[in-house]
Amino acid sequence: MSTDIPHRELTHRVAGFVADAITPIAAAMARGHGPSPKRIVESAGEAGLAGLLTPEAFGGAGGNHGDFIQFIETVARADASSAVILDVHLSVGTEPLLVFGNDDQKSRYLRRLASGEWLAAFALTEAAGGSDAVALRTRAAREGETYVLDGAKAFITGAGDADLYIVMARTGDGAHGVSAFLVEAAWPGVSTGPPLAKMGLHGSWTGELVLDGVRVPAANRLGDEGFGFTVAMSALDSGRVGISAQAVGIAQGALDAAVEPSRRRRDAGSEVDADAIADMEARTAAARQLTRYAAALVDAGRRVTHDAAIAKLYSTDTCVAVAQSAVDLCAPESGAEDHPAAVRFRDAKACQIYEGTNQIQRVVIARHLLRD
Ligand SMILES: Cc1cc2nc3c(=O)[nH]c(=O)nc-3n(C[C@H](O)[C@H](O)[C@H](O)COP(=O)(O)OP(=O)(O)OC[C@H]3O[C@@H](n4cnc5c(N)ncnc54)[C@H](O)[C@@H]3O)c2cc1C
Repeated sequence: MSTDIPHRELTHRVAGFVADAITPIAAAMARGHGPSPKRIVESAGEAGLAGLLTPEAFGGAGGNHGDFIQFIETVARADASSAVILDVHLSVGTEPLLVFGNDDQKSRYLRRLASGEWLAAFALTEAAGGSDAVALRTRAAREGETYVLDGAKAFITGAGDADLYIVMARTGDGAHGVSAFLVEAAWPGVSTGPPLAKMGLHGSWTGELVLDGVRVPAANRLGDEGFGFTVAMSALDSGRVGISAQAVGIAQGALDAAVEPSRRRRDAGSEVDADAIADMEARTAAARQLTRYAAALVDAGRRVTHDAAIAKLYSTDTCVAVAQSAVDLCAPESGAEDHPAAVRFRDAKACQIYEGTNQIQRVVIARHLLRD
């Protein structure tokens, strides 16, 4: 996929957005007292970035995945909560509509998402089925030109603030019995639980989505009936590239937090663990290249399952390791809750879990090698 945005202009636009809209709120977001997810996406819309991957014909910026990872990494370097809000909105929240939506669905929803007026969310996980997505139980029963959805989704990013949910629900048995639906938050029967009190990413809301007899027009089914598992797996393939970029940004932010105190310590004549700093830099640089490679494959229209899994696995393991080293290097000050290394350490862990745990990424990578 080519990009419509000149590289220098995008870099300038993203840097301006982060300096004006993200860095000033980063400390509040880390404490969970920042602007709502919807406000973050609105401010990205004001900067022309909420529809980065959406074609200009639908009010977007017409960017490609190279642009997208640059955006997410830069935001995550300043604030990981804002990065995951924007990542989910642009990636798994909007991309399935771009890839699988028909003209009617695109014309009804894309402009509102691309302008930042609406926040998008992706609802696959249930209490009984995360890694094993085929085990999902939410049902979609067809009644004429309507589907009636009943069930509950767990750990949904943006739940409670999102306007549009892409919901995977069962219309039959097995993997071919899952269908994807565009569900508006305002429809009767849609409700959400309060945001969970998480270990990190305090500025990003995560919660339950309950569907109680929600009547969804058949015109809001995304793709054919029984095609929902393909929609979800395709969304996650490219979504994992975004999470990889988020992890690179967190690692870079942790490195930023550690370098200056280490320099001061060295200048004061104390020992500094230079090997740790070198490893942090090398791993972050390697993770960035894996992310860029996976994004380039998406833009070339190539199948990315294997390389997105490698990028996600390596980058998210890296952000946890680099953030931990930053906490070590900045001790004892990093024991404080608001210390930038401590914030990154708490934020990093969820990246190993969402959009497929790293154990599942290993399953995906090994399956590719061991196939017949
Ligand atoms: C902050 C946050 C935000 C999230 N946002 C969203 C969202 O927006 N939308 C959404 O749909 N979901 C979301 N999730 C859910 C997330 O994708 C799931 O938590 C994840 O896929 C794991 O599923 P699970 O929680 O059911 O764990 P389980 O699948 O029950 O796994 C539990 C443990 O068993 C391991 N395991 C399971 N199967 C295997 C296997 N075959 N081999 C080896 N190990 C295995 C897992 O790796 C894990 O360590 C979010 C989660 C978090 C923490």
